[in-house]
Amino acid sequence: MTPEIDVAVVGAGIAGLTTAHELRRAGLSVRVYEHLPQVGGRMRSVRHEGWTVDTGAEQVSSRGYRATWELLRRVGATRMDVPRVGGGVAVWRDGRARLGVGENTAVFTGAGLSGRARLDLAAFSAWAGRRRARFDGDRPENTPLGAATVRETAAPYHADLHDYLFQPVAGCFFGWDTARSAAAPLVSLLLESGAPSDWRTYRDGMDFLARRLADGTDVETGRAVREVTDGGGHAVLRFEEGEVRARAAVLAVPAPVAAALRPDAPADERPFLDACAFTPMLKVSCLLDRPLTPSARRPVHILLTPAVEEDVLSGVVVDHVKDPGRVPGGRGLITLVAGPRRVRQLLDASPDEAADVLVGAAERYVPGIGAARLHHLVHAFRHGLPEAGPQALRERPGFLSRPVRAVEYAGDWVTLRPASEGAVRAGALAASRVLSRLGRRTPSGPNPTEEIRATA
Ligand SMILES: Cc1cc2nc3c(=O)[nH]c(=O)nc-3n(C[C@H](O)[C@H](O)[C@H](O)COP(=O)(O)OP(=O)(O)OC[C@H]3O[C@@H](n4cnc5c(N)ncnc54)[C@H](O)[C@@H]3O)c2cc1C
Repeated sequence: MTPEIDVAVVGAGIAGLTTAHELRRAGLSVRVYEHLPQVGGRMRSVRHEGWTVDTGAEQVSSRGYRATWELLRRVGATRMDVPRVGGGVAVWRDGRARLGVGENTAVFTGAGLSGRARLDLAAFSAWAGRRRARFDGDRPENTPLGAATVRETAAPYHADLHDYLFQPVAGCFFGWDTARSAAAPLVSLLLESGAPSDWRTYRDGMDFLARRLADGTDVETGRAVREVTDGGGHAVLRFEEGEVRARAAVLAVPAPVAAALRPDAPADERPFLDACAFTPMLKVSCLLDRPLTPSARRPVHILLTPAVEEDVLSGVVVDHVKDPGRVPGGRGLITLVAGPRRVRQLLDASPDEAADVLVGAAERYVPGIGAARLHHLVHAFRHGLPEAGPQALRERPGFLSRPVRAVEYAGDWVTLRPASEGAVRAGALAASRVLSRLGRRTPSGPNPTEEIRATA
């Protein structure tokens, strides 16, 4: 049977939608299959009585998000659509929120670090700064840190560097256990994306870019793909009912989902697919009757709660400080992020039980949050972020050098970059591989694939 479309994309997250956008620009017919009712995946936002709630991703950066900004330019967005986040990042230490985490001034102000630890932070920053060119987020396996874990990398330094900087950042933003995840992707991302003062968020919710890319794209929502096989020259997608043939397919889903959808994955794909574990994430967004915030000298947008002081939470995101437009006038929105040690247990609890546990723990940082809560929304991700463990780093070069096939992959795990920019770059890479297979040229002009093709 002749394939009915050129390319089928599985998953309407930012990776799948980037792939579809690139392929459509090259003149191919593309259809995206998404099992949820909305697009955006882990960048989905939900709207509720005037609140805009980001379920997964919270922000992007002015720096280190080159492919994302290129896409934004293409869809006609301006910097006004991506305003700076308000407030700073703080870490909780000894009963107080300490501001300045991630800022260049942290070695002077402390940002929760003791005096000796500040000297060690200065030493580590100088060491990484001198090797900056080798911390290339597109080649996380090639940095001077090798496959060392975050904990191993921090071990020679004062304990505060792990306990009040690396662990709280990795735990809150990525759900990582520092004894399991490699330091290279974390350090590369921090160096590339700059200080929190460079961070921005989408004015209308983090699904802004996904919705813009989906406009005019053939996206079938509410359609789960059950299996994808290489039919020898074309791809076959199977659904609960029926199947579709395409000249190529791109699995733009987390690696464990891709592995399950693709039981016949070739031997040179399997080791990386199997090594790409994901950390689970659970967040509870509390819609508040007033704009409560953690007490601090300046407004706080994110309060990191280190595992050495807190078991239940890894952080508190103050969404109405991040962007006042997320809430109706006079109201508040605070999102509580479950800590890596408790997240699996909370995922198995009922959503209301999980919310009550997190809100109870948050009273310590935002007194009165329980009484001010009008409503809560629970966001559970069994596949939250790529864990980026040492084995995944080791297997990635072999995966990247595989031949181009009828079934390709996209997603933040392909780049081992635990951020939406990684998903965009992987989407562009998958598109360029499909185009080369189908004998099409990548469209001219500035293109998110440029650097990536050079590394593929
Ligand atoms: C809690 C959290 C906070 C984050 N914070 C940030 C941040 O602040 N900044 C940042 O840059 N990044 C952040 N990230 C990371 C960012 O959200 C991801 O890197 C990015 O969204 C991944 O996009 P993706 O397209 O690779 O995957 P996904 O977004 O997971 O997309 C996969 C899509 O495939 C669909 N799907 C799955 N199975 C099937 C199937 N069988 N059939 C059809 N469809 C299927 C899913 O529903 C989903 O829509 C965060 C992530 C999480 C979870």
